[in-house]
Amino acid sequence: MNVLVINCGSSSLKYQVLNMTNEELLCKGLVERIGMEGSVITHEKIGMDKVKNVVPMENHQDAIKNVLDAVQHPEHGVVKSMDEIGAVGHRVVHAGEKFAYSVYIDDAVIGALEECVELAPLHNTPNLQGIAACQALMPDTPMVGVFDTAFHQTMPPESYLYAIPYEYYKKHGIRRYGFHGTSHKYVAERAADMLGVDMHDLKLITCHLGNGASVSAIKHGRCVDTSMGFTPLEGLVMGTRCGDIDPAIVTYIRQKENLPQGAANEILNKKSGVLGISGVSSDFRDLEEAVKEGNERAALALKIFAQKVRGYIGSYIAEMNGVDAIIFTAGVGENDIGMREMICQNLGNLGIKMDVLKNNVRGKETDFATEDSKVRLLLIPTNEELMIARDTYHIARARKNK
Ligand code: AMP
Repeated sequence: MNVLVINCGSSSLKYQVLNMTNEELLCKGLVERIGMEGSVITHEKIGMDKVKNVVPMENHQDAIKNVLDAVQHPEHGVVKSMDEIGAVGHRVVHAGEKFAYSVYIDDAVIGALEECVELAPLHNTPNLQGIAACQALMPDTPMVGVFDTAFHQTMPPESYLYAIPYEYYKKHGIRRYGFHGTSHKYVAERAADMLGVDMHDLKLITCHLGNGASVSAIKHGRCVDTSMGFTPLEGLVMGTRCGDIDPAIVTYIRQKENLPQGAANEILNKKSGVLGISGVSSDFRDLEEAVKEGNERAALALKIFAQKVRGYIGSYIAEMNGVDAIIFTAGVGENDIGMREMICQNLGNLGIKMDVLKNNVRGKETDFATEDSKVRLLLIPTNEELMIARDTYHIARARKNK
């Protein structure tokens, strides 16, 4: 069965088609500037050059229509007709407390996700638009929702509740939800495979370090804590997000800078993190270049980032009473050799020992701990699309066989 994976943002859309008989990636692409001038689709059939097509796309339905045309294109396409697409998997960011697993999308699921829009308006709105567009163009194809929050639903209340009046949890759903769940789950499963140990016998800490960054504690196959919270703003220092700060700072900056409504939120989400500290960039490659040129604030930004990751690792080791493996994934985790070294050095007291030579690798599954390290250090490239396609395939196949 071929599965189309859709990840819909407000003005962009990523897609892939995978043949799930052997999990082979057939094509992938990106639509940008939906609803703006100069909308463009970039499509890549695996093994062929990318093709770019500038076409007006007023909305998500236009975008999906162009994706379907690209996927069926006589030269660059991978199927002859849409009948060869057995199911569509949609990435949906926020499912609140409603879904702890991926689900077949029916009217009740749409209704439940609409109720979650309030929790993540910037993400869930385009996710739902993508689902509606696909349903309109492929009314007979099963659709599956895969949620960023689902994997974290196993957290116990002591991890997900904030120390604010309990009624706010009950009345407004204010609690830790966690994000990047599909990625944390994927790398945790790969780690178990790499180690040849059942997930249920492992204590893992997964570090998804990209532009957005989060850490999860996974005990015996279940997420027991994660660093992102009610929104993806909490936890680690990120590219442009502040991560954990004293909440009193928000009111204080608002007053001191005389900020209009919403401006503080914008500053903490878009102008903070390593960008805010360094004043240089949110991209770690730029920061490392700046450090080479003697930029002290860029060096400080990297130090603060590393310290925060180390802090969460230590905290989760205490929470789980140990750890068998620490996993590094996403843009920084997979590629930034220097940052992995900064994070993993001087943790010998916790039984964590890094092999500097083995760490000298990018984007390839690697165990970079020393032979005698009590804790394995694993680099595992994430693959959220494959995870979405797997869940979609299993759910669609189970329905077909009913
Ligand atoms: P992601 O959000 O997972 O796509 O990660 C994107 C981030 O990964 C970029 O903003 C960079 O900071 C970082 N990144 C990607 N490649 C490298 C690299 N070779 N060295 C250092 N950082 C990298």
